[in-house]
Amino acid sequence: MKMILLGPPGAGKGTMAARMKEELNIPHISTGDIFRAAIKNQTELGVKVKAIIDRGDLVPDDLTVALVKERLSEDDTKTGYILDGFPRTSGQADALAEFSAVDGVINFTVSEEEVVRRLSGRRLCKECGTGYHVEFIPPKKEGICDKCGGELYTRDDDQIDSIKNRLNVYADSTEPLISYYREKGLIRDIDAGQNPDDVFANFKKVIS
Ligand code: ADP
Ligand code: ADP
Ligand code: ZN
Repeated sequence: MKMILLGPPGAGKGTMAARMKEELNIPHISTGDIFRAAIKNQTELGVKVKAIIDRGDLVPDDLTVALVKERLSEDDTKTGYILDGFPRTSGQADALAEFSAVDGVINFTVSEEEVVRRLSGRRLCKECGTGYHVEFIPPKKEGICDKCGGELYTRDDDQIDSIKNRLNVYADSTEPLISYYREKGLIRDIDAGQNPDDVFANFKKVIS
């Protein structure tokens, strides 16, 4: 199955994609993760995008589309993939339609207050990227990844100014994609405001 996860920053797309990847055995492709890896490794791409990402703006479409096009040309995506955080603009959606046909778009709905709570408490593992929340999905040992023992950190863009900007960017550039895909009959909405197990159960039901 080839699917897109749509929804505001902090809706839980990455968390649910990581679980679904195990369930379906298809790759989880997160443009945010790809950019963060590039920044960490100080590649040419990483140097180019760091300031943009820190303030919560969007990386230009040409760069982002090229990256996803290349990733989707790899063999492991032939039977399916979970696209998380892409497309984020109508330009990206039009470009994607030229090189891949998706089976469905899962729209994660959640209130703005909840998104702010989730982003403010988000922590990631420095080593393996696993996501946690200080209150809602805490690691067994504070500050330490359950999976690999790596140190947890707060993303530079999970600061209140950048969060607010990202929510505006989402409303202006990404939210219109909901009607774009709804008109194509591809949207399935899920209530992402519930606890993680309920959201995942819902997610499984919707794609089955
Ligand atoms: P997104 O990829 O949509 O930006 P994440 O998956 O990173 O969102 O989730 C944002 C934060 O909310 C993380 O700290 C994550 O641990 C937490 N989280 C994810 N799903 C839930 C949920 N159903 N309830 C509470 N917190 C959640
Ligand atoms: P979140 O979990 O908050 O939704 P992501 O990890 O998906 O954030 O993305 C982090 C940042 O990377 C975005 O705020 C943006 O700057 C950049 N980014 C990720 N995906 C895209 C995209 N498809 N187009 C443009 N910029 C992107
Ligand atoms: Zn880890």
